[in-house]
Amino acid sequence: MSRCARATIHLAALRSNLARVRELAPRSKVMAVVKADGYGHGLERVASALQGADALGVASIADGQRIRASGLSNRIVVLSGIDEPADIDTMRRLNLDSVIHHESQLQWLESDPGAGALRVWLKVDTGMHRLGFPVAAAAEAYARLRRIAWIDPQVVLMTHFANSDQVGDPLTAAQIAGFSRLAQGLPPAACSLSNSAGLVAFPDAHADWVRVGGLLYGISLLPQTALDLGFHAAMTLSTKLIAINRIDKGERIGYGQTWECPETMSVGVAAIGYGDGYPRQAPAGTPVLVRGRPVPLIGRVSMDLITLDLRDLPDAQIGDPVVLWGGGLPVERVAQASGTIGYELVCGMTRRVEFVEDHQSL
Ligand SMILES: *Cc1c(COP(=O)(O)O)cnc(C)c1O
Repeated sequence: MSRCARATIHLAALRSNLARVRELAPRSKVMAVVKADGYGHGLERVASALQGADALGVASIADGQRIRASGLSNRIVVLSGIDEPADIDTMRRLNLDSVIHHESQLQWLESDPGAGALRVWLKVDTGMHRLGFPVAAAAEAYARLRRIAWIDPQVVLMTHFANSDQVGDPLTAAQIAGFSRLAQGLPPAACSLSNSAGLVAFPDAHADWVRVGGLLYGISLLPQTALDLGFHAAMTLSTKLIAINRIDKGERIGYGQTWECPETMSVGVAAIGYGDGYPRQAPAGTPVLVRGRPVPLIGRVSMDLITLDLRDLPDAQIGDPVVLWGGGLPVERVAQASGTIGYELVCGMTRRVEFVEDHQSL
């Protein structure tokens, strides 16, 4: 028998979430970010479900190539752009847009013989200090790009927020202001600033393009869950109860014997663990749904198994469905308990988890 750990991908939720993004940013184009294998949901299926977006954003040319191989002709933006001069031709051949964030990339473009057009997005560093030209160097970089005859003249200006999920943090306002000053000094160009948190928290910064990942998968980094914001979980991680044991008062559960039974009680064992991508850091008390009802995790998460306090669920039976996150249990709650973010959890499914597509409407 195969193991029962299963990630169900709700295609209707992806489409509905894209519609919700358009509702929130009605005047902007939407780049659906599908990096990291579609945030762990499966690149091709996510790209196909989100092909109504105005562009797809990927982290690597290889991901762009996979999307092209699946037959989609959507605009695709490679968010870190070219890694070496030979990538320029690959991008032309695959019709991928390149972000240009560094002097080295600009020089490769200037030295290229120019056999064909390329669309580029100029990335400006307004304070995150990861990728991008410094604000003071951006106008010159823009002018150099415009002098390259084979570069599409519609260069998109972009920047990325460091703290847009931290409500009230002054950095985001400073990033928006710095970017706006720069854009006003340049010939009119399309602009893009917001990620998911910016989409919700900074409506004035929607500009021409929003770039949205997390919320499309139904995951929020803001204090509100994605569900509260009108989005639906695109992944449900589930398994089954494979044992129920009566354990005496005072006995301790699992590796490290970290949890002691306060009374003689019923302990459930579910077939999932960190070997599937369920976080080992999840502490006792992390909610898990059995038959749709919340029960607390107890003891340490092991590679293949977790243990559950079934005192509030006396009718639980072997074979009962267990949901780790998804419909009925926001992944944000599991992430918060485990000291991480929902993005990391959904990106972490291992190869032994069976992926199933749900084609039902919401
Ligand atoms: C990942 C990424 C996004 C999307 O961020 P979310 O928080 O998932 O919406 C947007 N822009 C860039 C440059 C990114 O790398």
